[in-house]
Amino acid sequence: MSATTPYYKIRDFINGEWIENHTLETAPLYNPSTGAVLGEVPLGNEESSRAATAAAAEAYPAWRDTPLPKRMDYIFAMHLAMVERKESLAQAIAIDQAKHIAEARGEVQRVIEIIQMACTIPALIQGETVPSIAKNISGRIIRAPMGVFCGVAPFNFPALVFGWFIPFAIGVGNTFVYKPSTESPLFMQEIMELLTSIGLPKGVVNIVHGDREVVEAWYDDEKVAGVCLVGSTPTAKAIAQGCGRHGKKTMLLGGAKNFLAVMDDAPMDLLVENVLMSGYGSAGQRCLAVSNIACVPEIHDEFVARLLEASEKVTVGDAMDPDVFMGPVISKAAKERIEKYIQIGLDEGATLLLDGRSPTVSGDNQDGYYVGPTIFTDVTPCMQIAKEEIFGPVLSIMKVGCIDGALRMIKNHPMGNGACIFTQNAYNIEKFINEADVGMVGVNVGICAPHPYMPFGGIKDSLVGNNKVQGKAGIDFFTQNKVATVRVVDPKESQAAVPVSTGSDVRSCVAS
Ligand code: NAD
Repeated sequence: MSATTPYYKIRDFINGEWIENHTLETAPLYNPSTGAVLGEVPLGNEESSRAATAAAAEAYPAWRDTPLPKRMDYIFAMHLAMVERKESLAQAIAIDQAKHIAEARGEVQRVIEIIQMACTIPALIQGETVPSIAKNISGRIIRAPMGVFCGVAPFNFPALVFGWFIPFAIGVGNTFVYKPSTESPLFMQEIMELLTSIGLPKGVVNIVHGDREVVEAWYDDEKVAGVCLVGSTPTAKAIAQGCGRHGKKTMLLGGAKNFLAVMDDAPMDLLVENVLMSGYGSAGQRCLAVSNIACVPEIHDEFVARLLEASEKVTVGDAMDPDVFMGPVISKAAKERIEKYIQIGLDEGATLLLDGRSPTVSGDNQDGYYVGPTIFTDVTPCMQIAKEEIFGPVLSIMKVGCIDGALRMIKNHPMGNGACIFTQNAYNIEKFINEADVGMVGVNVGICAPHPYMPFGGIKDSLVGNNKVQGKAGIDFFTQNKVATVRVVDPKESQAAVPVSTGSDVRSCVAS
C-alpha cells in the first residue's frame, strides 16, 4: 500500500455513534484491482448485532410518531445530499468492490432515482376507507409501520440495495439495522456520514458489520419485525428457515441465471453491444447479467463471429481506470471459482471460443483478481455451466430451433430472475413477454433491470417468498395492513335507550 492510500478501519454505527469495538475479530478488506489490503472490517457477533437492534428499537416510537411531512424532509434531504456527494459515493463503490468507476457512478445515479420514488411515500402510504358499511359505521385499511427491520446486502450492489431498503423502510416509520457485505462496506461508511450530516435522529439507521453470525442473531430477537436480503439463493433459503422458525416477515431476493434469446431478425449491432454490456459489465457480477444465450441457427454463426470480434477488444484493468472496459472480480476465491467453471465447461464438451483465464491486464496490476471475457459455444442446457450461477464474465451459447425452444429452456431452469429477447417481430415480442417464466423481461435490451418507479424481483428460486423491491411495491414489505371498523355515535341518539334486537332470524357476525 502506498503512503498516500488511506487504511480503512471500518466501524459499526449504532445509536448515532461510530463504535470502536476492539474485542471483535476483523477480516481484511482488499482492493480487487491490485490485491492489496485496503483496511479491515469488524466481524460482528450476537452482542454487536443485538446492540444495533436495541438502538433501533429504542428509536422506533419517537420516529414512528414523527409526523410524515417531517420524516419526508429527511428523505428529501437524503436525496439532495446524495446528489451533492455523487462522486465520493461512486469512488467508495469503485475502491472496495472494484466496480468500474463509470458503472459505480451509474449505480449511485440509480439510487438517487430510487429515492425519488421513496419521496412519493405520502401518496403510497394512503389507506382505503369504505364509508358506509352500516349506519354510522365505516371500515378503514391503514398501512402501519411495524418496528425494527434488518437488511443484508450482497457485495455487488452496496448502494442499490441500500436504496431498495432504507429510504422506504424508514420513510414509512420503521427503524433499521443494516449489514453490508464484508467485501464492500465502504459505501455505507460514506452514507452514515451523509445521514448524520442531514440530522437523522440517532438509532433510526444503524450499521453492523460481519457475516452470518450477525444475521442469525436476528432470528429469535423479539425486537426484530422482519429481515430482508439481496444475495444468493442458498443464503435466502437459510434466512427464510431461520426467520420462519420465529414467525418473522422476510423479503429475500436470491440468485440468478439469465437467458437471452436471439431470433433471426435480431438487430445485430444493438444485440452485440448489449451482450457486451450485460455479459461483461461489472465483470459479469450482476443478478441481471446475461449468462445463457439461446440463438436460432439462421443467425448463430454471424452472431458468434461478431460477438467474438467485439469481446476480443474488451480491455481489462483497474476499476478506477476510465479507459478500460472491465474491472476485476471481487476476490481471489471468486476468480478461482469462475476459472473452475471454465474448466468444467471444457470437461463437459463445450467449445471454448474465448478463454478469460490469464487475461492481458492493462497497467501493472498483475496481482488483481482478473478474469477476461469468456465465450463457450455448443453448450447444452444440461451442462453444469448452463445450470449453475457462475457470477463472472462467462457466456454460454446454445442453439435453439425457434422461440419455443428458448422459452422451454427458460421454463426448465430453476432460477427465474430475468430474460431478454432480441427480435423485431411483434408476435415473438408479445409471446416472449407472456410466456418467459421469469420475474423481469427485456425486449431488445441486454439488462432488463426495471426502472426504480417499477417493482424489481424475480420468481422461482430467484425470489424466496413474494415481496419485491422498488416502485409502488417498495413499501409493501415494510408496512402491515391494519383494518379498523369504526362506529360513530350521534350524541343526540346516544341519550336514547338502545333497543337490544331480538327475534331476528339472522344476527350479523359483523358490526351492524
Ligand atoms: P451471499 O449470499 O454470499 O451473501 C449475501 C449476504 O448474506 C452477505 O452480507 C453475507 O454476509 C450474508 N450471508 C452469507 N451467508 C449467510 C447465511 N448463511 N446466513 C445469513 N447471512 C448470510 O451473496 P454475495 O456473494 O454477497 O452476492 C452475490 C449473490 O447475490 C449472487 O447470487 C447474486 O445473483 C445475488 N444478487 C441478487 C440480486 C437480486 O436482485 N436478485 C441482486 C444482487 C445480487
